Amino acid sequence: MNIINQIYCRAYQTGFRIAIPFLPYRNPEILHALDDIPDLLKERSVNRVLLVTDRSIRTIGLTKHLEEILTEEGFFLTVYDGVAANPTVQQVEEARGLYIEHDCQALIGFGGGSSMDLAKAVGVLIARPDKTLAQLKGVLKVHAKTPLTIAVPTTAGTGSETTVAAVIVDDETRHKYAIMDFPLIPEYAVLDPVVTRTLPAGITAGTGIDALTHAIEAYIGRSTTKQTRRESLRAVRLIFHNLEKVYQNGNDLKARRNMLRASYLAGSAFTVSYVGYVHAVAHALGGQYNLPHGQTCATVLPYVLEAYGAAIYPQLKALAVAAGLCDLETDEAQAAQLFLHALRDLNRKVGIPEKIPGIRREDIPMLAKTAAKEANPSYPVPVLMDARELKRFFYEVME
Ligand SMILES: [Zn+2]
Repeated sequence: MNIINQIYCRAYQTGFRIAIPFLPYRNPEILHALDDIPDLLKERSVNRVLLVTDRSIRTIGLTKHLEEILTEEGFFLTVYDGVAANPTVQQVEEARGLYIEHDCQALIGFGGGSSMDLAKAVGVLIARPDKTLAQLKGVLKVHAKTPLTIAVPTTAGTGSETTVAAVIVDDETRHKYAIMDFPLIPEYAVLDPVVTRTLPAGITAGTGIDALTHAIEAYIGRSTTKQTRRESLRAVRLIFHNLEKVYQNGNDLKARRNMLRASYLAGSAFTVSYVGYVHAVAHALGGQYNLPHGQTCATVLPYVLEAYGAAIYPQLKALAVAAGLCDLETDEAQAAQLFLHALRDLNRKVGIPEKIPGIRREDIPMLAKTAAKEANPSYPVPVLMDARELKRFFYEVME
């Protein structure tokens, strides 16, 4: 990247970094089991609730226990189970229709990132009935109190239970956009491992490394705070110690709980400290070829970290220490190599491929431009790269 653009990117990022202490970031309060939800609703004088989920989650019975306890305790429960992999404006409108029709007072987003994002988007429209979702896209446009929102992640994960964003797709143009504002942070996150127990091993692996990517990208970036550094290190430690266990044995509830905790911590870290080029490259690939987000990040991650080189050795050493791979006495370059090696090893053990099939060589210049546009100047990455420099990652992961 040329020097003028570098100065521009760094100045832009510094502005946002200086603003961090003045922004109303907050972490959702954690509930440890679905059984805690009825008492919370009573405390908040809520008796009419909209549960937002997807049909497959409901069909396999994951929401059954919650539906039963809420009904038994006398709550009036309405269920919207039409969430798709990429929630659309129309789906948000359908769910909002139910919320209003049944006079609901609170939202429960139950599922992966899509269900939680959809519940958050419904909250946005309830708070701002005067606007469309498209009018609220971008940063800090909502500006109004959303209804009580409880997030129940069933993957560990996207971190959507802690973030300021909801990602929505326009039904007609297929344009994907994010609404980002502080009222979108759910008030509560329910980290109950029981709902992640039946998650297939492949999704457990992809979403687990996605959480690891959030923690690493937040940590190596230039907009960290003491708190986000601590959250990232804890998340990395938990993932290195638990991901393989849950991949091998989905019923290991202690390890499942640790993964949910890691996903939450990593989500809290990146909502303040951002992600980086791994996400920009993975989003470009995912958008073009309709690939699963977590697994794509997992494949891309080692290549990008390698390319940052010595600029991130100190951070990689801290991550290696957190993961238990070495101690503070270890030489920096050696510790960084240990971390990269352990990362590739972890990917291999949980079935993440080193290459992505189906990437067309002729698409790469356009993909690199898309990635550069997403990341620059917003992401405070450790080493700046323009579209020309980002091309290498697409060539490297191409089968
Ligand atoms: Zn991600």
